[in-house]
Amino acid sequence: MKENEAQKLIAIVEDDPDVARIIEQVLRDFGFRTAWSRSATDLLRRLRTLAPDLCIIDLGLPDMDGLEVMQRVRSQSACGIVILTGRAHVSDRVMGLELGADDYVLKPFEPRELVARVRSILRRREGAAEAEGRSRRIAEFGGWRFNLANNTLHSPGGEEQVLSTSEADLLKVFIQNPNRILRREQLMGTRDLSPTDRSIDVRISRLRRRLEPSEDSPEFIKTVYGAGYLFLAAIAWPGGDATA
Ligand code: CA
Repeated sequence: MKENEAQKLIAIVEDDPDVARIIEQVLRDFGFRTAWSRSATDLLRRLRTLAPDLCIIDLGLPDMDGLEVMQRVRSQSACGIVILTGRAHVSDRVMGLELGADDYVLKPFEPRELVARVRSILRRREGAAEAEGRSRRIAEFGGWRFNLANNTLHSPGGEEQVLSTSEADLLKVFIQNPNRILRREQLMGTRDLSPTDRSIDVRISRLRRRLEPSEDSPEFIKTVYGAGYLFLAAIAWPGGDATA
């Protein structure tokens, strides 16, 4: 693969190191980056800072039920999910798909077959993301209007301001995840170094000054002490289709 930044990251949770090694090897041969976790606990911990494009989840893990792992991954990340399971566990496989896995691969598996499944899911997801991107350019909330394509923000009174890239990135994360608590690391861009970095608070404060009539009692960006921040708003996407 020619561009490093285009390399997709695949997280693998598999307790058998030999199987994990085979998976990592074949994925790397095909230009993917990999991150192997040996236990569910390890994977879930790493997902706080890693943003994989896809997770390969072995359903037979020693420390947590595979389906539970899957649901937890789903709740933490929008990544694709492939489950790996033995032939004996047909019901797990069906359940896995019902619970949101994108595909499954039976063990023992042909490594190239696994790569083919991974690529196909990533292609499908990219197509869906592009379609979504086309319909989701303008967001409206509480009388405000934000254009995600050129980072302009219109106040209810009609004043226009152009946000800096970092402010706009932060607002995008908020409006795409309204009414849920977002941890600092979920709000940080790739340029931020660590969760203790103060830059996120500075950015929150700048965004509040733009959006909030009173910074002391913010209407939209609520601080949830010890947890993170929450964007309290109903978001409408007037540029999207009728159901958006
Ligand atoms: Ca296993």
